[in-house]
Amino acid sequence: MLGATGSIGQSTLDVIGRHPDRYRASVLAAHRSVDDMEALCRRFRPAHAVMGDADAAQALAIRLKDVEETRVVSGAETLDALVSDPVIDTVVAGIVGFAGLRATLSAALAGKTILLANKEALVSAGGLFMQAVRQGGARLLPVDSEHNAMHQCLPVSANGEPDMSNVEKIILTASGGPFRGRSRDSLQDVTPAEACAHPNWSMGQKISVDSATLANKGLELAEACWLFDRRPDQIDIVVHPQSIVHSMIRYHDGSVLAQLGQPDMRTPIAYCLAWPERVDAGVAPLDIVAAGKLEFEAPDLNAFPCLALAQQAIAEPGGMCVFSAANEVAVAAFLAQEIRFTDIDRVIAGVLEGTNFSEPETLDAVQRLDEAARETAAETVMALRA
Ligand code: NAD
Ligand code: MG
Repeated sequence: MLGATGSIGQSTLDVIGRHPDRYRASVLAAHRSVDDMEALCRRFRPAHAVMGDADAAQALAIRLKDVEETRVVSGAETLDALVSDPVIDTVVAGIVGFAGLRATLSAALAGKTILLANKEALVSAGGLFMQAVRQGGARLLPVDSEHNAMHQCLPVSANGEPDMSNVEKIILTASGGPFRGRSRDSLQDVTPAEACAHPNWSMGQKISVDSATLANKGLELAEACWLFDRRPDQIDIVVHPQSIVHSMIRYHDGSVLAQLGQPDMRTPIAYCLAWPERVDAGVAPLDIVAAGKLEFEAPDLNAFPCLALAQQAIAEPGGMCVFSAANEVAVAAFLAQEIRFTDIDRVIAGVLEGTNFSEPETLDAVQRLDEAARETAAETVMALRA
């Protein structure tokens, strides 16, 4: 479990904890939250606890002296080796942002079943990532609720992959976030707390802000293109404020299949863990009568320019790597109250404008492109603060 202490990590471990007969979390990895990791290790007794940060690993090792089953280690190379270990069959990619790319790529090359929540890794290095999946013979199952819904609405071909042959359109739904219906002008002074107060989902801070700006839907558009081998024009984006319909597939004959469920990540996580079987996810049954109305509307690209910027970036080689890096820097600056909510799209637009695009063919090239975009984004943040 990569990102064990995060929102996806907690939801995944909750499902795993319900099925000790089926699943065992043998490696837990997180960045530096020692308290949370200690509690998780005491409960799940993994063989390895991996901290991104060496000091945090040292602190954790002292706390876990009495837990004999668990070895505490740190560092990216150690994590690469652990996710590639033959004893592991499934890797849940739940690290947030570009930081998750390396370990997830290792899992792909080692031919694991990857439960992918870390969309930024796929979006930044799409070509390279999908090639690693093919090369390693890995299986990719989408945890992101929308892509999970698409997966559920698609037939499976003989090789176990989604069969796209009769699909006309993918309809990607968006909740619209906490600021749906508001004008851009009215969003000047919104706070991080307001941006993170999602009406339907409880998630980590970064993806909560991404949902509020609709940058998340831009990332998800690219994610769907890679996962289901589509062009952006084969995917429609529709705002559905209730977050009950998690996405839809329209077929050539006019049929539209949708997946419905409570907005609770344990459902897509349990689907991926058990696929092609089904297990209890601990989620309350959906009461469709209580849900009442299901509404659908077009996204407002004027109020939320991040989505329009993603639609531009996706057409450029390496464009989404730049978009995602700039967005990460801008969101961190907004959360630190260094820039305004409405500066997030300004930062992304500035970075996209200043980039000469070319397809990054190697991991090194992806890392350089990401790094360059972060530098330009940091400069733009400084200029906005002045
Ligand atoms: P989060 O902030 O709650 O958790 C992030 C996790 O990543 C933590 O465990 C943290 O320790 C770890 N981490 C961060 N930086 C790291 C680093 N440098 N090295 C190692 N570990 C690191 O985030 P989240 O909401 O759980 O989201 C995780 C991913 O899942 C994101 O890519 C997000 O877009 C995606 N996702 C989340 C949800 C959701 O409901 N939370 C839904 C769909 C997709
Ligand atoms: Mg999603």
